[in-house]
Amino acid sequence: MPSENGNFAKIDFANATKVLRPTLGNEAPIALFRLVRLILLEDMFGVSATASSYLSGKQLGKGLGLRDLSQFVELCEQLKIGIIKTGENHKGQLHIDVYECVTCSGMTPPGRALCSFEGGLIAGVVEGISKNKVNVREVTCIGGLGHETCGFDVAVNES
Ligand SMILES: [Zn+2]
Repeated sequence: MPSENGNFAKIDFANATKVLRPTLGNEAPIALFRLVRLILLEDMFGVSATASSYLSGKQLGKGLGLRDLSQFVELCEQLKIGIIKTGENHKGQLHIDVYECVTCSGMTPPGRALCSFEGGLIAGVVEGISKNKVNVREVTCIGGLGHETCGFDVAVNES
């Protein structure tokens, strides 16, 4: 429904996650999520879907206003994004591994990393926590490249 001033009413996280389905409940098959996430988005945006998903994930992650990484891990568990392990890579950067990734786990690898939305989400969350500019690169991908985890290197540009 258009708002009174004719602006396009933005849907925020709190609203999008309100669910009222007395019979079907709170859950839907992962297949449905992937149709939207992998097929519909790429149909609409082609190759630029990757960058758009990253930026959109980043904006969302920043807007969550999380105070520390443990809240992020908790959120990922609640939303069943995956099983999260945090650590460091060989450069001493924060590295986040996602096991059983909701976006790609189980797929026949098409030969490219698929989880740019998740990478953006991590970037936004860490940027919100650290107040520094953050760049995230997906270095491994389960369903995209055949790895054991979707792994993300987090580069924080300290200002
Ligand atoms: Zn992945």
